Amino acid sequence: MEKCVIETKGLTKRYGSVTPLDRMDLRIREGEWVSVMGPSGSGKTTLLNILSFLDVPTEGEYRLAGVDVSTLSEKERVVARREKIGLIFQQFHLIPYLTALENVMLAQYYHSLSDAGEAGAMLEMVGLGHRAGHLPSQLSGGEQQRVCIARALINDPVLILADEPTGSLDQENEGVVMDLFKKLHARGHTLVVVTHDVDVGRMAERRIVLSHGHMVSPHPTLGAEEQYTDELLELLEKNQEAGGREGAADGALPPFGGLTQPLLHRMEQEGLVAVSGGRVALTETGAEAARERVRRHRLAEALFMGVLDQGPNQGQEAACQFEHLLSPSMADGICAFLRHPKTCPHGKPIPPGRCCGNASRES
Ligand code: ADP
Ligand code: MG
Repeated sequence: MEKCVIETKGLTKRYGSVTPLDRMDLRIREGEWVSVMGPSGSGKTTLLNILSFLDVPTEGEYRLAGVDVSTLSEKERVVARREKIGLIFQQFHLIPYLTALENVMLAQYYHSLSDAGEAGAMLEMVGLGHRAGHLPSQLSGGEQQRVCIARALINDPVLILADEPTGSLDQENEGVVMDLFKKLHARGHTLVVVTHDVDVGRMAERRIVLSHGHMVSPHPTLGAEEQYTDELLELLEKNQEAGGREGAADGALPPFGGLTQPLLHRMEQEGLVAVSGGRVALTETGAEAARERVRRHRLAEALFMGVLDQGPNQGQEAACQFEHLLSPSMADGICAFLRHPKTCPHGKPIPPGRCCGNASRES
């Protein structure tokens, strides 16, 4: 049997009449990368707090690396957290009177021995080598968050728990952090990442979606392969839209639970992509299919965020689940209903469809 790092049975948390976590059975294998998504208030933070022993469940079992956590004393829990878990939580503040380097070294000190060389190298890894001597107050929010990430990773924890790790980062720094996660995953660390960001969520091998403290199936009516094919087409199209003319490096595509290579092979046979020299590019047929996907996605966003007023996070997530269910004629129906919008709520272009032919389009 495969080794589980996290195993919960009937895990439940109640606060009076509120049950943010409701009989959750969760198994996460060693080395797995799992993203946890779901609307705000669905219990994501509660789950991570319990998984990191910051909170205790009202009922249910939690085994970390085979050890029943309820049998540990408070002191043993602190030691287990320090040795096994790297926490990347937004509310975990840095010590204001210590520099970035010293904040990272302090985590080393509590674990074993501090080593300025290693701490500095970890800051380099998160792109902050040149800021090592700065105090938290001299760093931007995104930089502080990266110091927290360096601090969480410095002791090489087997399990990394992150709550919205890219929440306050710009695109470039989000890329830095995602690359770091890819490296950690490749080195065999187990990652559990709570995120609202669909692109960050997609990087994981498996996605868990929470709703009212329960796990729900992310796309109930679609098989994983169909959904991943849609997502691969979309990613390749966005890559080309962003100027990646020569195609994407196939190693940079999400793993999709190990399905990426077989899916690319099938898409190649279907004439949707061309693969050569480790790069994947859309064929003309593929580009057309992809534009249709991007169109559906952005129309769904325009509907949920623009019209149904679902706020950026919920709207984006709803759109992400809904787009896969849209038939071409439904997409045209939404497009007409929205009076053939030219751009999505993020200002990205919506590729025109057949229905947009004679209609004047709104931006
Ligand atoms: P998420 O991280 O998905 O946004 P949370 O896990 O923070 O959700 O919260 C889930 C639900 O539990 C919310 O309805 C929240 O109000 C409630 N909750 C969380 N912590 C407490 C607490 N300490 N006391 C009472 N209710 C809480
Ligand atoms: Mg939360």
